Amino acid sequence: MRMNTLTRAIVAFALALPGAAIATVVAAPAAQADGCYTWQRTLSQGRSGDDVRQLQIRVAGWAGAGGIVRVDGRFGPETAAAVRRFQSAYGLRSDGVAGRQTFDKIYQLQDNDCTPAHFSYREMDDNCGRSGWSGGPLSADRTRENALRTMWKLEALRHSLGDRPLYVTSGFRSSDCNRRVGGASDSQHLYGNAADLTSRDRSLCQVARAARNHGFSGIYGPGYPDHDSHVHVDSRRENNDDRTANRTSWSAPDCGVGAGD
Ligand SMILES: [Zn+2]
Repeated sequence: MRMNTLTRAIVAFALALPGAAIATVVAAPAAQADGCYTWQRTLSQGRSGDDVRQLQIRVAGWAGAGGIVRVDGRFGPETAAAVRRFQSAYGLRSDGVAGRQTFDKIYQLQDNDCTPAHFSYREMDDNCGRSGWSGGPLSADRTRENALRTMWKLEALRHSLGDRPLYVTSGFRSSDCNRRVGGASDSQHLYGNAADLTSRDRSLCQVARAARNHGFSGIYGPGYPDHDSHVHVDSRRENNDDRTANRTSWSAPDCGVGAGD
């Protein structure tokens, strides 16, 4: 969330002062623009660094049909295309360059803990992982980061469905809990890398079909065993810690969603 109020207060204060004092105020270190992360430069193809990586996490949900955005800190054509889709989805000039208007939109969308506006860590760490992201195969920090990346894709999916609520009925699961609920032995839920979704405003098939455009390489929904009451989405292609092939796997036969789509 951008700290507009503070910025405005500083500007108003500066305008009320005589010249010398203005210089002093303006020269003071700038207040951090955002409680989570502030970008310091415009990013376009050819750039690399942690700021690119931070951008990639936030636009990974705009990967386009069947695609993914690699979160590798290198701004290539894949990232540029995702930035363009993000920009056009939010009514910005679509040029694939992440500058002020793009960052301002991201600041608007993100909370101070870096989660997107409509999803939260609490929602992704349900009763099946009430131990603060531990108890799975990865460290708590890595599990939590996977959950964050999942949430940014969910935010994109939600926006594409008309910004109507999506509910996460299962997020991270500890190994113990995954066994209790009968989850797959190498479930993406163990890695913080998956979410089970329901919606009141959209059919499960609408959710499953739309998920194909938002960076989810695993989708299971209506018609797939035990998936008639929710849609499961995950990022298995990007998971190098599991025992699952890094391939797209989609199955919601009642929705016309299959592996080759
Ligand atoms: Zn699931």
